[in-house]
Amino acid sequence: MMQLPSFVTQFMDTFAKHGYKIYAVGGTVRGLLMKHEVNDWDFTTSARPEQIQKLFEHHFYNNQFGTVGVPIDVNGNELVFEVTTFRKEGKYSNARHPDEVQWAETIEEDLSRRDFTINALAFDGKELIDPFGGQDDIEKRVVRAVGKPDERFGEDALRLLRAVRQATQLGFMIEEKTHASIVANAQNISRISGERIREELFKILASPHAADGILLLKNTGLLHHILPEVDNAFGVEQKSPHRHHVFDVGTHLVESLRHCPSSEVITRFSTLIHDIGKVQTHRKDPKTHIITFYNHEVVGEKQAEKIADRLRLSKDQKQKLVTLVRHHQFSVSEKQSDKAIRRFVKNVGKEWIQDMLDLRTGDRLGSGAKETSWRTELFKKRLVEVQKKPFTVHDLTITGHDVMEELSMKPGPQIGTILEQLFEEVVEGRVKNEKKALLEQMKMISS
Ligand code: ATP
Ligand code: MG
Repeated sequence: MMQLPSFVTQFMDTFAKHGYKIYAVGGTVRGLLMKHEVNDWDFTTSARPEQIQKLFEHHFYNNQFGTVGVPIDVNGNELVFEVTTFRKEGKYSNARHPDEVQWAETIEEDLSRRDFTINALAFDGKELIDPFGGQDDIEKRVVRAVGKPDERFGEDALRLLRAVRQATQLGFMIEEKTHASIVANAQNISRISGERIREELFKILASPHAADGILLLKNTGLLHHILPEVDNAFGVEQKSPHRHHVFDVGTHLVESLRHCPSSEVITRFSTLIHDIGKVQTHRKDPKTHIITFYNHEVVGEKQAEKIADRLRLSKDQKQKLVTLVRHHQFSVSEKQSDKAIRRFVKNVGKEWIQDMLDLRTGDRLGSGAKETSWRTELFKKRLVEVQKKPFTVHDLTITGHDVMEELSMKPGPQIGTILEQLFEEVVEGRVKNEKKALLEQMKMISS
């Protein structure tokens, strides 16, 4: 049987002592059954929010959901236990959120409003409450709706995406009838806000089986509504006579994601969408049958902007996504000049160079090429070399302060002019970007 840590049983005892029922619930119990490390402790109780708050001096109350957060100290680390009063399914008029929260009297009622059998589980420390066969489904590794799937997805369309997200994270299948119901109700996902879609999508992208998650989105019809740009790429042919492309564009995108070595979610997202511009730019020469995608990265950049806005990415996330898509076609040719490589670094930005290379690794492996090539390795070495020289005056080893101090000057535009001159000298290779050398050079310039 499952063993709860003592900091959990102590917490639960506080409720029991006051005559309230309390259970660990949902994903927490699933995690315990699967012997995963539990980081999120969720509880459900017969106590009402006001009553919960009276039990603990320190708490946070989220009025919208009636959840009380209680900070717990575990060996010097703070965890927040989330406690929610038994609830029943409220009426939904918009397939988004219930019109009002209604309290329930029993744990069974509370479990029956939950989305999937593997989440409709509660544990009081001794007994597992499992009215819908959740434990069995965990063993079978399936995500199955509680009750009638059409009704459950009709109440809350976010569940459509939660099913795919949880199946992806857990490496489970979606049970047949539940799957069929997602297909039938897929278009309702468009009623869900961009933020909430992004949250689920990013959890899919961040999981180790992300590529399979995207295929599941495609096969359920959800991809068509949340990322039509990627969905439309399936079936777009890439193979020209005597060229290496083996996959259609959509499959290539998914395979690139599968092989992307980065765990950073925007890098992975960029890898998934990097070639979406190929759908619109696809041309096939009627005589030679050669396929081209001129400027697909420019078209893709525009599409990436729209996707970022639609899914409400932050400003930084958007900039990174758009930049990586725009510049993914970079050349690693050994014939290009240092100047060209410096332009590449400037365009992409120093902090995203590694992400850009990770996208390229995914791109290569996702089209059946080797992980790297001697050209790519040489290019990486040259990237390191060109970055030893400064890109702007801010990369110099001396600052405006040094200039003012050494030359006893007051703040003003002359300081910038001197720094600019020094920067030029360094870029041209006439002086090293070292403090001592720069200070000497500075005295020469200004004398
Ligand atoms: P994880 O935290 O690992 O992502 P989880 O199952 O704990 O997974 P949460 O989003 O934290 O998922 O939700 C906690 C519990 O609340 C779920 O296990 C489920 O029982 C219930 N739940 C969450 N969202 C919904 C929903 N849209 N419809 C019905 N029940 C839900
Ligand atoms: Mg959780």
